[in-house]
Amino acid sequence: MKILKFGGSSVATAERIQGVVEILKSYKKKRRKFAVVVSALGRMTGVTGTTDLIIEMTELAQKGDERYLDLLKEFKSRHKVAARTLLQDKKRLSVVESDLKGSFKEMANLLKGVFLVKDVSKRTMDYLLSFGERNSAYLLANALTDKGLKAEYLDARKVVTTNDDFGAAKVDFENTTKNIKNYFKKKTAVQVITGFIGATDEGITTTLGRGGSDYTCAIFAAALDAKEIEIWTDVDGVMTADPRKVPAAFSIDKMTYSEAMEMTHFGAKVIHPPTIQPALHKKIPIRIKNTFNPDFPGTLVGEESSTDDSPIKGVTSVSQVALITLQGSGMIGVKGTAARLFNALAAKEINIILITQGSSEYSITFAIAPSDARRAVSAIKTEFKYEIQERLIETPKAETKLSAIAIIGENMRSRPGISGEVFHALGVNGVNIVAIAQGSSEFNISAIVSKEDEVKALNAVHEAFFLSDTKTLHLFIVGVGLIGGTLIEQIKNQAAYLKEKRGLEIRIVGLSNSKKMLFDEKGIDLNNWKNKLDQKGEKMSISRFVDTMKSLNLRNSIFLDNTANKDIPNQYEEILDASISVITPNKIATSSAYKDYVNLKGLARKRGVRFMYETNVGAGLPVIKTLSDLINSGDEILKIEGVLSGSLSYIFNSFVADKPFSDVVKAAQSLGYTEPDPREDLSGADVRRKILILARETGLAMESKDVKVENILPKPCVTAKTVSQFFKALEKADPHFNDLLDKAAKKNGVLRFIAKLEDGKASVSLQVVDENHPFYSLSGSDNMIVFTTARYNARPLVVRGPGAGAEVTAAGVFAEIISLG
Ligand code: ADP
Ligand code: ASP
Ligand code: MG
Repeated sequence: MKILKFGGSSVATAERIQGVVEILKSYKKKRRKFAVVVSALGRMTGVTGTTDLIIEMTELAQKGDERYLDLLKEFKSRHKVAARTLLQDKKRLSVVESDLKGSFKEMANLLKGVFLVKDVSKRTMDYLLSFGERNSAYLLANALTDKGLKAEYLDARKVVTTNDDFGAAKVDFENTTKNIKNYFKKKTAVQVITGFIGATDEGITTTLGRGGSDYTCAIFAAALDAKEIEIWTDVDGVMTADPRKVPAAFSIDKMTYSEAMEMTHFGAKVIHPPTIQPALHKKIPIRIKNTFNPDFPGTLVGEESSTDDSPIKGVTSVSQVALITLQGSGMIGVKGTAARLFNALAAKEINIILITQGSSEYSITFAIAPSDARRAVSAIKTEFKYEIQERLIETPKAETKLSAIAIIGENMRSRPGISGEVFHALGVNGVNIVAIAQGSSEFNISAIVSKEDEVKALNAVHEAFFLSDTKTLHLFIVGVGLIGGTLIEQIKNQAAYLKEKRGLEIRIVGLSNSKKMLFDEKGIDLNNWKNKLDQKGEKMSISRFVDTMKSLNLRNSIFLDNTANKDIPNQYEEILDASISVITPNKIATSSAYKDYVNLKGLARKRGVRFMYETNVGAGLPVIKTLSDLINSGDEILKIEGVLSGSLSYIFNSFVADKPFSDVVKAAQSLGYTEPDPREDLSGADVRRKILILARETGLAMESKDVKVENILPKPCVTAKTVSQFFKALEKADPHFNDLLDKAAKKNGVLRFIAKLEDGKASVSLQVVDENHPFYSLSGSDNMIVFTTARYNARPLVVRGPGAGAEVTAAGVFAEIISLG
């Protein structure tokens, strides 16, 4: 004998009930013996489950709100439509319809009473709730018979006896077992049993607590010594986390009763927690299966756990908890405080979710359901009245808006370092831990976090334990111009490869240009992103962009500033402080005041995130990384020389005899190598920033003004008002530059615009280099950086390549994103 339970979502509509009928018919074909427990017609997208519907209508009626009648109408119609769709046999349909009508009438009368007296007792509530399961089981029994599978409706109130704790009645197992055994003795037809409900000795209707149909199933299974329990629901079994909160969750093939117990007590709603006990007692395996995917094996809960390597089975959460701390000097060394505390709470039937005690014995912190918080505080105040009066114990307060998350698994016992991993995953994602506890079973580690962080915490911990070879990055991109736009294309083209080969999923969650911004938590579809940003985007504001990014609160968030904007870097501090990494080719932040640079780097370190700006110098070339590798490996930097500007590199590499300097600059401008006003390049301002950044990376506390930059332009060129006037002035200066070139040639040298850092001093100047110097052979717009160090001395370390351009800069940014993954 097997007992099968179909949850609300498996019987939400006639079509779904039809699916259940098919499953049961195939069981019958295989000559299996079984009974069926069923929930009330459940929820679907956009439709409330009938249990909730009954609660809502009763609450409305109780408030004297006539709209309860609308909900009652909806309730009736759902059942009527189901009956008509399911039943072909006219005679049967008419009997069923008239029975349904009778039950609707009774409900209407009861609700009218509630409406008139504006009051409802828990007892009446339970009675009203029973109509949900009674009608659904009755419908299913008839649908089965209609399809040729002889079935009988069994109202569980006939056999399941309970006490009168309405809303969460306790089962009298002795009587119930006897009743069920007797009842089933003479039965041959398939029994279709109402879940969730029972009755007292006097026959008064009770319910077993929300989600209690699973429990009904286990009660029948234990009484009948069933071979297996099957719980049919809307997901592929017990999963590594709630798939609604953690999309990457996957199904667990096997788990032990204890693991299932811990997981369900800690929020895995897929099994109602009390269900495990009767099954464990009789060693009946529980299989969780998906009605929407019936061939999938699902999860087997039994005496064995799966043999895979993972130290944990799942990550769960209790979305809403309240935390109360009992503390005070009067607790130190005083025996029995904890016992008094917990007895006082037990007397009020307050369930404790988690307890931690400071080793100082100075405080005990525990978590409970927020709905119990007021009663708990008042129970403690009564119990410790004297201590509170004497200030030996502080007046307790409940903290709310918190969630408890837990990792669960028996293998944890044998593995050290698990909690460290949990805290690391939470820490690098900026999740603050309010309290922690390790269950005495040693296979539950729980942490209290703010409610806002619940989903992020679950995903981060889930990723750390189950997806160690895969990771999702959430990108927020400001600036989709040349660099940003190219980057998005690169990400788009590389996405499939990264996912498959590197287990890295990159989602662009936020995107903005100077006018519009667009967000999509699931990742913006990168086909046609330009149009989407223009058409669907809202008005861009950097502070709202940052606020949205922060409030989305996604793990592994990265902010990318692909602009040269002066204001956006003002946000970096707030962003890093929210544990979000920053990657940027924008040089403003790294080349402004030294204290700001140090502050951002320190903040990133403190928050466990990264502030990355490799593309500040030499675009995609590995300049900053090389420098930091040298320093970290203990080398000593003696000198850094660099041609750090692509524009100036091009200009001086092409400036050869017979060519007027002004023509060379014009050509560079028209090729797009320079800024629209070439003086921005020729002034050396950009090179100043770059050598300053390199100097700071070597550890020097240098300011921009400390870099000596030679002015190579004659005064009229500098003061010219417009670009064309500048070119006129430059033409006049051609002889001056030719003269410089001639002098260099006489020394067998060429002119190069070189930044240098040596002996703690930084300078930028136009220099003559001869053929023995690495810069002599530079061509095109290449950058070249020469590191002379203690190790690379006679032959310095050279980094050379294209140091500008959207393609290489975007690639540099991309490389940093990947390195974060
Ligand atoms: P039913 O109506 O079938 O009883 P429930 O809604 O009570 O279904 O339980 C199934 C739901 O439990 C799933 O849809 C899922 O969102 C939720 N759930 C929470 N934690 C887990 C988990 N660890 N594994 C699977 N489902 C979970
Ligand atoms: N119908 C009840 C509820 O929604 C019982 C159940 O579905 O298990 O809580
Ligand atoms: Mg359920």
